[in-house]
Amino acid sequence: MKTEFDLIARYFTHQQSSTFLENQGVILGPGDDCALLDWDEAHYLAVSTDTFIEDVHFPAQTSAYDIGFKALAVNLSDLAAMGAQPLWFTLALTLPSANESWLQAFSAGLFDMASRFNTALIGGDTTRGLLSITVTVMGRVAKKHALCRHTAKLGDGIYVSGDLGEAHLGLLHQQKKIQLAQEDQAPVLDRLNKPVPLIELGCSLLGRAHAAIDLSDGLAGDLRHICNASGVGAEIDCAALPISDRISRYLSREAALRAALIGGDDYELCFTAPAEFEPTVKECRVTKIGRIVAGNKIRWLGFDADNLQAYDHFCFSS
Ligand code: ADP
Ligand code: MG
Repeated sequence: MKTEFDLIARYFTHQQSSTFLENQGVILGPGDDCALLDWDEAHYLAVSTDTFIEDVHFPAQTSAYDIGFKALAVNLSDLAAMGAQPLWFTLALTLPSANESWLQAFSAGLFDMASRFNTALIGGDTTRGLLSITVTVMGRVAKKHALCRHTAKLGDGIYVSGDLGEAHLGLLHQQKKIQLAQEDQAPVLDRLNKPVPLIELGCSLLGRAHAAIDLSDGLAGDLRHICNASGVGAEIDCAALPISDRISRYLSREAALRAALIGGDDYELCFTAPAEFEPTVKECRVTKIGRIVAGNKIRWLGFDADNLQAYDHFCFSS
């Protein structure tokens, strides 16, 4: 099986020598939530790009406002995962037609998200074709403490913020695979369409957490990135996974766990921190779910986790 990550590793990683990258001020290249570039004495510039495509990243019926809001939010989430403070973004927009009411709503969503996190649009590109939105975000993070995927340590606790799986529940509703009760529709669909990047949490973890990632593809795949990058394994206590009561009302325990592990689109943070880590009062929605261990396996205690395959754009047999 080849995955998008095999393709990136084969064709786009390590193509340029480490000396060249160092001379260019590249501290961290492809492989983490953001690249880190040398900036000033105390800070790195963190940069990340994500593309957002109709029927791949959002269902066709998603409102233009939500598309604009989420396209920037998911990018800012990568800054949150490094503990970076957002500064600027660019927007490359491909549109099937110049539909002004659509553009008005899209830009309203985009700029609502931008002003919430004090980030300025500084350029982009506008072309005609199938709807596709590419955002590049840039932010600043303290050199000493940037949170990376390769910095988990043996004995660290593993933590997640918020709860997992509700965005997937929203997707199941949109796909008409389940029917949410009227009172659950708005909060659950907001989890899918209006994720809020956890910038404040990411920044508050600087100097306290060792490694971090944002949960875009589901905990199973995203924790695997931390383990691979850090050369460690993990043990997860599945009974400790934060899954809302609401999910349990609609899905069996097995299906709820699968939504939490491979559903994706949660945009919570998963991080590792020394055993003495204590969430602050503001971080009360942080849950300890396991620990970093030696080896390279992830053990899902209390769940038969065979075939836990995260979403992948190019998963195919070679
Ligand atoms: P995330 O889910 O955090 O946005 P991705 O899964 O999109 O991260 O990408 C994983 C890593 O691979 C990132 O560091 C990203 O910059 C890098 N990457 C993805 N595609 C390419 C590419 N075509 N060329 C270089 N690096 C890439
Ligand atoms: Mg990410």
